[in-house]
Amino acid sequence: MKIIAYPDPILEKKSEKIKNPLDPEIQKLIIDMIQTMRENKGIGLAAPQIGKSIRLCVIEIDKKSYVFINPKITSESKECDISEEGCLSFPGKFLPIKRFSGVTVRYLNEKGEKCKIKAEALLARALQHEIDHLNGKLFINK
Ligand code: ZN
Repeated sequence: MKIIAYPDPILEKKSEKIKNPLDPEIQKLIIDMIQTMRENKGIGLAAPQIGKSIRLCVIEIDKKSYVFINPKITSESKECDISEEGCLSFPGKFLPIKRFSGVTVRYLNEKGEKCKIKAEALLARALQHEIDHLNGKLFINK
């Protein structure tokens, strides 16, 4: 799939909740997004970046892939840290971004099951970046 680059208005639009994670179209999209993320050597990809304004993102860190449907941050650590961040919609651009060091996120997985993850370090950073995408927020504005 083709990745949408900034400035496309879809990147700044708030995405819609997914009603049925098991919908075949959503299931196919998940597979295509994971493949697209790998092909582009990204660690995360959000649906608006491939032109779908829906609350779905994928992350892959240390060869472990995650699918997040309707993710919501339910708690944040007191600590923050600053680290260089990139985005597949901004090829070649890297900026130091301040993020919470840890976040707890509730979401549905690709089977539509309710899940909760307590993420730290790079996974926490990637989750905050991708959930921002679902809210139409981009790292250049942070
Ligand atoms: Zn991004």
